[in-house]
Amino acid sequence: MRPDKRNPATLDGDSWAVHGGNQPDLTTGAIRTPIVMANSYALPRDPALLDDTDSDLLVYAREAGANQLGLQTKLAAAENGQAAAVLASGMAALHALFFTVLDPGDHVVVSDVVYGRTRGLLQELLPGKLGIEVDAVDVTDLDAVRAAVRATTRLVHTELVANPDLRVADIGAVAEIAHAAGALLSVDSTFTPPPLARPLDLGADVVVHSLTKYVNGHGDATGGAVIGDRDLVDRVKLGPLHHAGGAIPPFNAWLVMRGSITLPLRLRRHCDNALAVAGFLDADPRVAHVAYPGLPDDPHHALASAQLSGGYGGVVSFALAGSHEDRLRFVEDLRVITSAVSLGHDETLVAYERYPDERAAAFATPFREHGLVRLAVGLESPDDLVADLDGALTTVYGGA
Ligand code: PLP
Repeated sequence: MRPDKRNPATLDGDSWAVHGGNQPDLTTGAIRTPIVMANSYALPRDPALLDDTDSDLLVYAREAGANQLGLQTKLAAAENGQAAAVLASGMAALHALFFTVLDPGDHVVVSDVVYGRTRGLLQELLPGKLGIEVDAVDVTDLDAVRAAVRATTRLVHTELVANPDLRVADIGAVAEIAHAAGALLSVDSTFTPPPLARPLDLGADVVVHSLTKYVNGHGDATGGAVIGDRDLVDRVKLGPLHHAGGAIPPFNAWLVMRGSITLPLRLRRHCDNALAVAGFLDADPRVAHVAYPGLPDDPHHALASAQLSGGYGGVVSFALAGSHEDRLRFVEDLRVITSAVSLGHDETLVAYERYPDERAAAFATPFREHGLVRLAVGLESPDDLVADLDGALTTVYGGA
C-alpha cells in the first residue's frame, strides 16, 4: 500500500511520529497545527447538534481542544490503540483511569515497585476515598500475582519497566492471570514509549503514559495519556475529564506534540547512551550494584529483550557504597549531569534517594542498604557522561 500521512496503517512509526495528528491550518495555510489558545468554541446554530456522548466535540477546553485532539490521534495510533485521552499530567491520567474503572468493593493488584505517587494514589488515597482494596505484589513473581487475584479483582496495574528499580513485568503472562480473574490489565509504559514497546500488542487492556517524560522529551511541559479501546477511553473522557477537570492546556499539548516528532530518534540516542553508561558503571569496582535491563547479566535482560525493540530505555539505576554523605557528595560533584527529579529530558538528570523501609523492602539488597541513584540518561555525548561520572566517583572514592 502506498504510504499516506493521513493513514497510520500505511506508515512506518518514524514517519507517523513526524506526521501523526498534525492538522494544517485552513485559515492561514500554516502547514502545522497552530496553538489554539481558546477555552471556548463556537456553538452550532442548532443546539440539537450538541451530542453529549461525543467526547471529542469542540465546545469547551476542559473537555476537548484542537491541540488535544491532534495529540490523541497521534498517541492512539502510535500505541496501536483505538483511542486516547490526554490529560494534564501522568498522575491526572492514572487518577482518571482508576476513577473510571473502579467501584466501591473492587479489588486491585498493583506491582510493589511503581512510581511513588502511583503507589500513594492506589495504596493510600483511593482505598479510603473509593472503598477499594489494594494488594501490592512482586509482579515478576507470577505465582504471587496468581495468589493475589480474587473474585472481586477488577484491575491489575504495573509498569512495564518499573520506576525506580527497573524490574521488568511479563505483560503477556500478567495479562493472562488478570483476564482469567475477569480483571483488566493496565500498564504504565512511561519508561518504554513507542517504538520501544506497545503493551496493547503484548496483551494489556490499557496503557498509561506520563507525556512529561520521553514523549515531550524537552523538560518543558507536563502531560499524561490513557490509551486503549474506544469505549474505555470515552468513559475516561466523559467521566473524570469532563466532570473533575484535569485537562492539558493547549500550549502544553502543542509542546508535547512538537517534542514527540523526534521521539523515535531521541529514544535511540537515550538507549545507546544508557547502555554505554550502564556498561561503564557495571565494570567499575567503586559501584556496588547496577540495574539496567540492557546489560546481558541483568536478571531482567531476557524478558526485556522479548518485549522491547530497539533498546532498553534511558534510565539506569545504581547503588554506591560508603556513607549517605559520600553519595550526596558524589551527586554534588557532577558537572554535566543535573541533580533533579524527572526523566526523559534532553539533559541527563540524577536523583539519589534513600527509600523508607516499606518501599525499599521490595528492592534488591544493595538498593535497600545504600539507597538508589537513578540516572535518567539524556542526549549528551556518552563520553562526557562517562567522564562526568568517573570524575565524581574519583572525587569521593578515589581512582578506580
Ligand atoms: N508514571 C511513571 C512511571 C512516572 O515515572 C511518573 C513521574 O515520574 C508518573 C507516572 C507521573 O507522571 P507526571 O509527573 O506527568 O504526573
